[in-house]
Amino acid sequence: MHELTAIQLRDKIKAGEITSTQATKKVLQAIEKHDKIIGAYISVFEKQSLERAAEIDKKIAAGESVGQLAGVPVAVKDNMCTTFGATTCASKILENFHAPYNAAVVQKLLAADAVIVGKTNLDEFAMGSSTENSSLKQTVNPWDTTRVPGGSSGGSSAAVAGRLCMAALGSDTGGSIRQPAGFCGIVGLKPTYGRVSRFGLVAFGSSLDQIGPLALNVEDCALMLNVIAGHDPNDSTSVDEKNAPLCDYLENIDKPVENLKIGIVPQFAAGADKQIQNAINNAVELYKKLGAQIIEIDLPHFEYAIAAYYMVATAEASSNLARYDGVHYGHRTENPNDYIEVYSKSREEGFGKEVKRRIMLGTYALSSGYYDAYYLKALKVRNLIRTDFTNAFEKVDSIITPVTPTTAFKIGEKVDDPLQMYLADMYTISANLAGIPGISLPCGFDDNNLPIGMQILAPAFEEQKLLRIAKMFESKTDYHKKKPAIIES
Ligand code: GLN
Repeated sequence: MHELTAIQLRDKIKAGEITSTQATKKVLQAIEKHDKIIGAYISVFEKQSLERAAEIDKKIAAGESVGQLAGVPVAVKDNMCTTFGATTCASKILENFHAPYNAAVVQKLLAADAVIVGKTNLDEFAMGSSTENSSLKQTVNPWDTTRVPGGSSGGSSAAVAGRLCMAALGSDTGGSIRQPAGFCGIVGLKPTYGRVSRFGLVAFGSSLDQIGPLALNVEDCALMLNVIAGHDPNDSTSVDEKNAPLCDYLENIDKPVENLKIGIVPQFAAGADKQIQNAINNAVELYKKLGAQIIEIDLPHFEYAIAAYYMVATAEASSNLARYDGVHYGHRTENPNDYIEVYSKSREEGFGKEVKRRIMLGTYALSSGYYDAYYLKALKVRNLIRTDFTNAFEKVDSIITPVTPTTAFKIGEKVDDPLQMYLADMYTISANLAGIPGISLPCGFDDNNLPIGMQILAPAFEEQKLLRIAKMFESKTDYHKKKPAIIES
């Protein structure tokens, strides 16, 4: 099964060459064997997945039609609500929270006949870039277990890279799908803001959050996007399909984009490690050989993206996280002296350090007297960044950048230095501020045999073209086929 992609497995299950029960058992065995070390999962649904797999096998045996993910074992990040198991957000405050409904994406996975084998670890409330901010457990990078898997979708990324599921869902507020995909040598797609429903995704920065797939290759990402994309009346920010028609993201995926114009940003190169710069340059050369025209572009407000993001995201987070008050949801302190202590102690005990830092930053940025100077200014910068992309996309179809300035760093290396950690997102954050889609795919390995990721950005709702552009590179390279040694052990 290590050799199969999600699509290949799905086709074999549909053809009766392997049953979903066999595939699910294999994945559960791999989790049993390797997840003690990798630590990708917060919960694993052994019994329930086998029951579901058996149901799907029955449908296939009876000749009934099955969905696009027929019998394929997948995982979801533990900030998406499920009626089965807990939805913890890797936080002590929600450790025992059981959601009363399934997130829209979970409903869609189930309707497509996927088998959800478990829920994966993350930085608490998706705040972080290494999964070290999880209050529940540590996840390591399958390529080097002394290193972080990236974050905040570190559990989903490590699970896919470690072959502990066939594909997974993550969420991306400032890079949390693309950055861990880059660190773990897999493909991760952040769709356009509004392409996928956020209903049932525990909110962090509502104007930035977007759910997307993590998978072994570009086609599997397209398949997952086919399953989860679309308008949802329960999420007013999900886009009406009349304005932005949905398409089959697998259609024509093998067809190279003609007259392709790729933008590169010369000022970006300087920020990344030499080996990453080289890998990106080689990738750009390959596109050139494939007929693409390479055009230098300018994103003049790029340097302000991190500052603007940490105002907007923390402001929204401080408001979104106000609901954890010891009354409505989750952890409540024992024996409070008065009702003020119900709030303050529940929150003090329930939230981790980084979450508290963000709530304080965001509350400060929104407070009277500072609102104009910080929050409003950040919104203006956000607009300038959006305009930079609009201008750039008049000249090019897509933009290539590194995903991260370094490859996966050591566990503990940056955790006490929030600014360094925030800088790890310098290439990914502006796509969230602008709402545009971005994909991360493997484009090399450094001297430590750690994966290097390339990011490709495209205009809003051009996921189909973005996937085709990514596929052009993937079909000429083998980086996505290499596996971490741990899975063969
Ligand atoms: N690393 C960024 C942060 O800490 C982005 C997180 C995310 O995309 N969820 O906010």
